[in-house]
Amino acid sequence: MALLEGKKAAIFGVANEKSIAWAIAEAFAREGAELALTYANETVEKRVRPLAESLGSRVVLPCDVRDDDQIKQVFTVIGKEWGGLDILVHSIAFANREELKGSFLNTTREGFGLALEVSAYSLIALAKEAYPLMKGRAASVLTLSYYGGQKVFPSYNIMGVAKAALEMSVRYLAEAMGPDGIRVNAISAGPIKTLAAAGVGGFNQIASHVEQKAPLRRNVTQEEIAGSAVYLCSDLARAVSGEVHFVDSGYNVIGL
Ligand code: NAD
Repeated sequence: MALLEGKKAAIFGVANEKSIAWAIAEAFAREGAELALTYANETVEKRVRPLAESLGSRVVLPCDVRDDDQIKQVFTVIGKEWGGLDILVHSIAFANREELKGSFLNTTREGFGLALEVSAYSLIALAKEAYPLMKGRAASVLTLSYYGGQKVFPSYNIMGVAKAALEMSVRYLAEAMGPDGIRVNAISAGPIKTLAAAGVGGFNQIASHVEQKAPLRRNVTQEEIAGSAVYLCSDLARAVSGEVHFVDSGYNVIGL
């Protein structure tokens, strides 16, 4: 039997066919899940609609995570369509480009707030609204993080602080939602060339370093992240919650 047969999944964070969220959507569809996709704005909508259609996803909705009304509307529609929700994938991050290069000392008050709001608080905002639909369903929340939330990487700057907040939110949410059967986990992915990654200064250097130093001596693919996402959101991981699971060719175990 397919691993996600009969499950209803809402996926936030598809921007194009290179998005990690898109690989997750494709893998979930292959494993039998029914999908709802959201898009951040009208430019992104043009790319997301045809992708959603190609997977037979009928629920495609706008959701800028800075807007509580849009978030509420997504879960109202999902409630009407499905009556409940089994999986929530949060694959969203944003920071001002000029703060993803050079010195961390260039971080502004405004840039700090924006990065933390879009990249970390949004997980809490989505979980809060999804909660009534997920309660009592052996449901699963999944987000995407990066090792730069645990250790210092050149240029990752404010996004590292946001990922640290995100990973701690995973643990607090796991505790808050666990009594109702809802699991909350993160995948800490190795560097992958996507739209978001292109905004991080020196990305190519980071990726080539991983290729040289990671135990597997290579970078990871979107599909490999999606494979672990299927596991974490399936009943195979039914006792796993509050975890940050590395899918990074083993890079994080290396000291020097
Ligand atoms: P991506 O650019 O395809 O995805 C980022 C998504 O965030 C986009 O869909 C974008 O529309 C969305 N977004 C930005 N601001 C938003 C807002 N205000 N409201 C709603 N959506 C908004 O890039 P990706 O690499 O697939 O990133 C997905 C996640 O994976 C991010 O959290 C990223 O930090 C994380 N991640 C990426 C890498 C990598 O190397 N690519 C590594 C580890 C973790």
